[in-house]
Amino acid sequence: MYIDGQWLQAAGGAEFDVFNPATGEKIGAVPDGSREKAVQAIDAADRAFKEWSVQTAYKRSAILYEAYRIMTERKEHLARVMTEEQGKPLKAARNEVQYGADFLLWFAEEAKRVYGETIPAPRPDQRFMVLHQPVGVVAAITPWNYPVSMITRKVAPALAAGCTVVLKPAEATPLCAIEIFKILEEAGVPKGVVNLVTAFNPEAIGEEFVTNPKVRKITFTGSTEVGKLLARGAADQIKRVSMELGGHAPFIVLPDADPERAAKGAMLVKFLNTGQACISPNRLFVHRSMVDPFVEVMTKRISKMKAGSGFEEGVSIGPLVDTAAIEKVDRQVRDAIDKGAELVSGGRRLTENGLDRGYFYAPTLIKEVTPRMTIYREETFGPVAPVVPYDSEEEVLTMANDTHYGLAAYIYTQDISRAMRVLEGLRFGIVGINDINPTAAAAPFGGMKESGLGREGGREGIAEYLETKLAGFSI
Ligand code: ADP
Repeated sequence: MYIDGQWLQAAGGAEFDVFNPATGEKIGAVPDGSREKAVQAIDAADRAFKEWSVQTAYKRSAILYEAYRIMTERKEHLARVMTEEQGKPLKAARNEVQYGADFLLWFAEEAKRVYGETIPAPRPDQRFMVLHQPVGVVAAITPWNYPVSMITRKVAPALAAGCTVVLKPAEATPLCAIEIFKILEEAGVPKGVVNLVTAFNPEAIGEEFVTNPKVRKITFTGSTEVGKLLARGAADQIKRVSMELGGHAPFIVLPDADPERAAKGAMLVKFLNTGQACISPNRLFVHRSMVDPFVEVMTKRISKMKAGSGFEEGVSIGPLVDTAAIEKVDRQVRDAIDKGAELVSGGRRLTENGLDRGYFYAPTLIKEVTPRMTIYREETFGPVAPVVPYDSEEEVLTMANDTHYGLAAYIYTQDISRAMRVLEGLRFGIVGINDINPTAAAAPFGGMKESGLGREGGREGIAEYLETKLAGFSI
């Protein structure tokens, strides 16, 4: 753990093991931090806030630039740590490290653009000035599916704004977090400004984050269930919260789209990170006239996908995170088949050629999925593509919005008017139009409804860490 500028063990040297999900092998052990360590880290962050919050934006920016430089230089090493610890193919891990570094660069720049404003006042002797100041100590909790970028997406804007941070990374991927904190230390982040508490049981740390009055903001990426728990806890002290939660993305192929192009796009985004992404399509709405060609292209492509260790050449399907994930995916597939869906390919755990040591599930395609099936409602977080046929634009829009989630959605069409109508009707925070990757450090990422609160990245990303203060002068 990294607290107040020191690398520390847990009390009594307590540790927990970290495993490679592709092989089940132990790859390391990290300190198992207790609630006391969280208190210690929050105290350090609180002390450091005094100086860090009044540094010039130029100083903070320079440190973030340096962190960006080091992370870019260390890309290959970080990617390898990620593939070993999280399982994604090396190429995808390299892309994620770049995406993670991009947040350091973007917020190094945004740090210098925290502008205020003056407002015309109603009295002749009065002047209004609005300024923005850092929120204070930020407690951050991050997930395992994007173990590098989800950290920089929070830490970079917090530091740029002048906040100090205590981070608890996911218990499955603490090694990536440690690598990032080494970079922040080397880049010159002063002691106490960033603190890392690793822990196997998140509950006690989360409890401290929400109840400790020194923490003024909670930023969380993870499940909707845990997000609600933290938001409820934070409400007691009216702490600021940012929540990036679950999703259930519709992927809509409109009748004029090219089914082959749409199917290629669906393949890439559905099986990205083996489906373990909150923006992963969870319902593929294909106009009834195009189901056959769409399914044909997908089936052909799926048959060429290779599952295995992310270090192996040509592998595009990595392991799932654990046995529970395999069981959840399989349960959804069985439920759909029992209720009348047709299994086109996959639909089973992969065990041949040593894959039984890891958590592999075959890339799966099912068709004739209906709203009665669990997969139509519940987030899958695995490599299953459920095709839902529809007949009219109005019907598909209603079906797409029929979820308590509202993170990402995708539309395939060549008709600009149709694209605009469907875009405006969708209740989702991120919409890709013939585009399967509508994300970047420069763009606001976040969800509506139970997918979250607030935005990360873009201009909005730094605002989440700033308070607005109004000054009224009488002259
Ligand atoms: P997932 O299902 O994707 O693992 P979680 O929401 O369980 O999603 O985990 C995301 C992050 O939230 C992880 O860092 C995890 O340790 C943390 N977490 C899980 N439960 C709690 C809790 N009760 N309090 C605080 N953090 C939690």
